[in-house]
Amino acid sequence: MTVRAGREFLAIPGPTTMPDEVLQAMHRPALDIYSTQMVELTESLLEDLSKLFATKGKSYIYIANGHGAWEATLSNVLSRGDKMLVLESGRFAIGWGQAAKAMGAEVEVLKGDWRRAIRAAEVEARLKQDKDHSIKAIVAVQVDTASGAYNDIEAIGKAIKATGHPALFMVDTVASLGCMPFEMDNWGVDVAMSGSQKGLMTPPGLGFVAANERAQAVHKKAGLRTPYWDWTEREGTEHYRKYAGTAPVHLLFALRKAIDMLKEEGLENAHLRHRLLGEAVRRAVAVWSEGQVLGFNIAEANERSNTVTTVTMKGHDPLALQRYCKEKCGVVLGTGIGDLSGQAFRIAHMGHVNAPMILGTLGVVEVGLNALGIPHGKGGTEAAIEYLGENVGA
Ligand SMILES: *Cc1c(COP(=O)(O)O)cnc(C)c1O
Repeated sequence: MTVRAGREFLAIPGPTTMPDEVLQAMHRPALDIYSTQMVELTESLLEDLSKLFATKGKSYIYIANGHGAWEATLSNVLSRGDKMLVLESGRFAIGWGQAAKAMGAEVEVLKGDWRRAIRAAEVEARLKQDKDHSIKAIVAVQVDTASGAYNDIEAIGKAIKATGHPALFMVDTVASLGCMPFEMDNWGVDVAMSGSQKGLMTPPGLGFVAANERAQAVHKKAGLRTPYWDWTEREGTEHYRKYAGTAPVHLLFALRKAIDMLKEEGLENAHLRHRLLGEAVRRAVAVWSEGQVLGFNIAEANERSNTVTTVTMKGHDPLALQRYCKEKCGVVLGTGIGDLSGQAFRIAHMGHVNAPMILGTLGVVEVGLNALGIPHGKGGTEAAIEYLGENVGA
């Protein structure tokens, strides 16, 4: 017996649920890629992406996922043998570092912890030791989608600035752009990257990079440049060079619609919506945790992301819960990955999410916990409902 029918609901941190309007925006013929319409579409998107990153710097669109956008950042500013400092807070900055190592960079990991965010003071201390400025770039994620950590990029940017160290600061916003505030220029970030399929509600397949003037200056001498990723190539006069070939026309239609929807809602409101829905999830998890089996992976409340919550599970199999929710109820939870493989599940609350989706997901998790006899504090979904009732103004 199941109570699933119709559309399966993705509560995984990417790809996320796409609005029907975004899906429909793609249902039309391709554009003549030499037309004025095409040029204008590209220009409007590049301008809006720079606004989303909050930078005066240029943005670039790649036909790639987040891994591709990582490579784009590395190839444009690093040379073989350059040293890069990776700020660990889970899985994803480590992955960026692995790509850099494979490309010929020397990679040092500033040891972090899967249970907490990056400590700005530790970054500052490490940079102060680097007296001859051998570190050329520092990379961090704003949200680590595996651990659920939210890193205070502003504080890390300030700490870097305080040391006077010239390394480029590069930030991954794949799991946060459009969902949580990000201010590239104000926070001292030189290069930022993101992807289409998480907070930006667009199909997988587009990677975004923004670079400021400091990064553009380093780019001129970078030795790892290759034609596809190269920023200079993409500045060429012919329009096709913006994509190093044929434009991904339909994905661009989708992205245009998704950004228009964000504009219509208001970016600040989208951030607030994520804060409220994220907190609703946390209220539920806090109550479930009273059963001593479930718990927050991230120990400090202010280091938990508004886009994904990683819930640890002791002595029971999170995959069984995940399977139940998917196969019986049509809600797909994220699994634990990396160090948390087999020990956690994840609830995504990023992008096109609203109260029924979140309350429905929490309700289904509770159905699963009950059905599988996994001990948990009673009334988690009720706590989420109460929180929203008190905080979403009349
Ligand atoms: C998903 C994700 C990535 C990787 O993106 P892909 O599109 O899967 O290559 C990188 N960084 C973060 C923070 C992510 O959440």
